[in-house]
Order: sequence, then C-alpha cells, then structure tokens
Amino acid sequence: MNFQEFKKKFPSEPKIVEYFCNIRYGDDFKCRHCGSADIYATYDNRKMQCPACKNTFSVFAGTIFEKSSTDLKKWFYAIHLFLNGKKGISALQLQREIGTTYKTAWRMLRQIRLAMGNKKKKEDDDDDFMNTIIEIDETYLGGKAENKHMSERVAAKGIFEKNIVLGMLERDKEVRGFVIDEAKRDTIMAKIFENVKIGSEIITDEHKAYYWLYSQFRHQVVNHSKGQYKKGADAHTNSIEGFWSTLKRGVYGIYHHVSKKHLQLYVNEFAFRYNNRKNSEMFDLVLAQAVL
Ligand SMILES: [Zn+2]
Repeated sequence: MNFQEFKKKFPSEPKIVEYFCNIRYGDDFKCRHCGSADIYATYDNRKMQCPACKNTFSVFAGTIFEKSSTDLKKWFYAIHLFLNGKKGISALQLQREIGTTYKTAWRMLRQIRLAMGNKKKKEDDDDDFMNTIIEIDETYLGGKAENKHMSERVAAKGIFEKNIVLGMLERDKEVRGFVIDEAKRDTIMAKIFENVKIGSEIITDEHKAYYWLYSQFRHQVVNHSKGQYKKGADAHTNSIEGFWSTLKRGVYGIYHHVSKKHLQLYVNEFAFRYNNRKNSEMFDLVLAQAVL
C-alpha cells in the first residue's frame, strides 16, 4: 500500500474511527454505560455519545492511542510504515515522514511495539503451548552498562553488559523470545514449562542448562563443536539462529543500541514480524492488539 492507496483507504478521521471500531467491537458496538446500540460520534470523533443515557465514552480508552493527542491519520500511517519496512523505521525517519517532534515519533513507535507484543491468548488455553518440534536457544545482545558501578562493569568485560534473550521456535509456526536475567537452568526451565507442552520434541545446543530437559521432553542435542551436523537432518537449530541474525541486524542496524529496559519490546517486535511474515492482515492484527 503506497501513500495514495493509503489515503484512499483512510480518507478522513471519521473513516479511521469507523475502521478501528469495526475491529475493536465488530457487531457488538454498544454504549459502555447502558448497552444501547443507538450511539454516534461526537464532533471530535474520538468520543461516542449515547442519547439514551446521555453519557459519552472514548472508543480509544484502554488502547495504545488513549493518551495521545496526535491525529489518527498520523497514527495509522505510522503503523503502516512501521509494518512495511522489513526492519521497521527509526523515530527520526518517522518524525520526517509524518511531521511530528522526535519525542512524539519515538513514543508512537514504542506504543506500536507494545501492540505488536500484546498477543491475545486464545480461549482454549491449551492451544497456546508449543507442541511439535521446538528449537530452543539463547543469545546475547550488547547493551550499555551506564547504571552500573565500575567494578560491575569490569566484571561484565568492559563497558558493555550483555543482555540475554531466550528463544523458542516451533518449526513452521512461531517464535517467542524472552529477555532473561541469567542463562541458568531454573530460569530457562521455568520459561520452557510456561510455553512448551510436556512431551514435545526440543532441540538445543549442548549448553548445560538444557541437560535436564530429557526428563519431561524428547530432547535432541546438536553438538556444534564436534561438527555433528548432517545435511537435511532434523536435529538442527538453524531456524532459531536465523531469527537471531534478523533480530541483531534489526536492532544494531536501525536502532544502534538498545537498553535492557526496552529490549523485550524489540524482541516482541521482531517475533511479531517473523510470526506474521505471511499474514496479509498484519495491519488489522496490530489494531486488534492495540487494545491493551
Ligand atoms: Zn448509554
């Protein structure tokens, strides 16, 4: 969708509100106070008015747009640009494209990332577990150790502290990533139990923290150092490693450096991109997930 097509799809603020309401409420668009279906937009379009109970309510309450005074056309175009760029867009680029301040652009991107990471759980909880062949691996991303004492910085080998991300990738399905404090067994196991169905097949490298997996899962270990690696074999961690390189290229290429505080948001962003790489309704999905 180029800008001309975008303007055709979203010609005005009321059209954007209507589009959003369709995604948020579907056929169930009623007054939040009394349940009357006979409601209409107020002059500024962000609020709905109910003649039955004389109340108003915002259709953006509880969403990523709630506290923003930026107009919705800019918001929608920002989401569009962000999703269209394979690696996203920087706050500086966004600032130029939509004509806001840098701070506003930066905040908007942060909110969009929040929506991308706000995956809705399915009603049947069981569906949310990974359960076929899952590659699990951890990786390290550099981060600034600005709030550390010198002794700790030295301990962290120089001025850079490393942030650890634990990744799980279910083949042909989805990837999930978690920023963790330490690559220790208990931390890793807890995350695996939260996400993977017991009895599933898990493939990892020879990191000691994974040794214990055999008791609850079918566990295959890839021994990289011994070059134990057959072409076409199932026991590999190529897919999760591919995801790591995309994540790193993205984070280092566009964002230069990411603090630990924000790293989970970026991991969620890139997981969302990976998981929706074939989804043509990605834009609508972000809007649906914009309801926090
Ligand atoms: Zn009402």
